[in-house]
Amino acid sequence: MTNHVEEIKNKLDIVDIVSSYINLQQASGNFRANCPFHNEKTPSFMVSREKQIWHCFGCDKGGDLISFVEEYEGIDFKEALKILAEKANVPLTGFSSAKKEDHSKLYEINKEAAKFFHNILEQDTEASKKVLKYLDKRQVKKGSIINWQLGLSSESWDGLLRYLVTEGYGEEDIFKAGLIVKKKDNSGYVDRFRKRLMFPISDTQGRVVAFTSRTLTGIVYDEEEFGGKYINSPQTAIYDKSKTLYGWHLAKDVIRQKKYLIVVEGNMDVIASHQTSAKNSVAVSGTALTLDHIKLIKRYANNVILAFDGDAAGSRASFRSISLCWQEDMNVKILVSPKGKDPADIIKSNPDEWLQFIKDSIPVMDYYFKRIFQAIDINRADHKKVAVQKLLPIIKYLKTEIEQVHYLKILADKLNVPFEILKKDLDQATSFLEKQDTVVQKVVQDKKDSATLLAERIFMIAFFKNQYLDKLISELDPDMIIESFQDLYKKVIIYYTKHQNLEKFGNFEELSDEEKEMWIRLSMSGEKDYNEIKEVDLANDFQHLISRLKKESLDIQRQGLINQLRQAETSDDQAKQDEISHKINLINKEVYKLQS
Ligand SMILES: [Zn+2]
Repeated sequence: MTNHVEEIKNKLDIVDIVSSYINLQQASGNFRANCPFHNEKTPSFMVSREKQIWHCFGCDKGGDLISFVEEYEGIDFKEALKILAEKANVPLTGFSSAKKEDHSKLYEINKEAAKFFHNILEQDTEASKKVLKYLDKRQVKKGSIINWQLGLSSESWDGLLRYLVTEGYGEEDIFKAGLIVKKKDNSGYVDRFRKRLMFPISDTQGRVVAFTSRTLTGIVYDEEEFGGKYINSPQTAIYDKSKTLYGWHLAKDVIRQKKYLIVVEGNMDVIASHQTSAKNSVAVSGTALTLDHIKLIKRYANNVILAFDGDAAGSRASFRSISLCWQEDMNVKILVSPKGKDPADIIKSNPDEWLQFIKDSIPVMDYYFKRIFQAIDINRADHKKVAVQKLLPIIKYLKTEIEQVHYLKILADKLNVPFEILKKDLDQATSFLEKQDTVVQKVVQDKKDSATLLAERIFMIAFFKNQYLDKLISELDPDMIIESFQDLYKKVIIYYTKHQNLEKFGNFEELSDEEKEMWIRLSMSGEKDYNEIKEVDLANDFQHLISRLKKESLDIQRQGLINQLRQAETSDDQAKQDEISHKINLINKEVYKLQS
């Protein structure tokens, strides 16, 4: 299969392929376009012919030509490869059977794991009794526990692992299924989930593909559990959280029937809602609503109700979900439950109240108008201004001019100001997301520590122009770089040493998905930021960054030695003190050299 992929990639050019879908413009060395995956007016989508990769700086998506076709057509890897194989005239023999076989093990393992967890919950133990009591208190019915195959993970470090091995599964496959993690000292594996309430997550066909788990601290166990309230399965070959909706397999027929669905926030909310007549409820797990979710939904219904708790509907994250739905021409309504009361709570005290909330949900724009007009006095000029400032960026976001004009008229009427004035303001307004994005980006930027920023900048240049990579490798050991970049850097060194260029580094089979994504993001950022910078400035920049990074690394080493020296001083070990002092002196000299 790898050979097919290689062959197809070699025969096709990413620029030709992407151009066949969208309008790519050549701009100094690379290609740009308005991103097809998010709504924008200035192009932040870039394609590199040299590296055969693409990346969008607006929505952070990126990959190779296969992933572009996957993303654009809303299809999986196999289907995308088929399309491209045809274009490249490469026959795909024996391809589908090999791929199928590969995954069936992972499905089996997850299915067995769900059974294992469910059985523990059914056993008569102290822990299971307490969990069942908790579920009963939250009014999760016995039938729901069975339908949703709720479970309990074992108290031992390797309960599941040992069970699956005796069932004949290999450690490698169990690891690939996301159920075990490597021990810190690399001496084997332990269970990912221990002492937790387990919720199996199923794919659209109802096969268990992953788990989400809730801590039982305070319910069964006293001690603080490692890993926080919720732990989820990682991304695996069969599980992608950005494409999976919790409860979909049990909700989809009802969704088709009722022609709408309700997206709630938690697993418990879904289960509770399914205990009422609102069985068309699903939840996202550990992510916001994505375009993939919406594309899945659209195949069944065009109407979605997003359930929010309190003011959350007004947040930027919520607006992202809303705008994605708009982008796909979905009708969106908002359901707002009282602050601090999630759907499961409402249903617990009165299931009919939940159905009433669903009935009372309102279209998004009406929600925004209501929310903003509740807070202002329309007789005051300054309040009118606030309403305009808040609503125009949202109206600006609407897809068609017809919709924009519609709501602009309502706004003009409500405020009793001439429509033309608002229209002029609208033309000058920035849309809600663009405005919020810059603010958020800045905060994120500030938070990133300087070591990360420094490493990012250095890699951006080195990935952009390979002559800097030679310099980097000769001057900088991997352990001088911040830990999160070390593995990628090591792999770059291995690959570059062998091939003397990084053109096809994206295909390097040693790369994890995360590293591949990092590589794409950094090399495209390099092209974007350094393309128009003069060679001599770039060289200076690079040297300066390396010196700074070296200095920071030396500072950290020096601080460690100073701590050691303090300890040695208390123990009266003169020889040791001298040795450490000597090392500190050496570092001081190096720092001095760097500064001069
Ligand atoms: Zn984008």
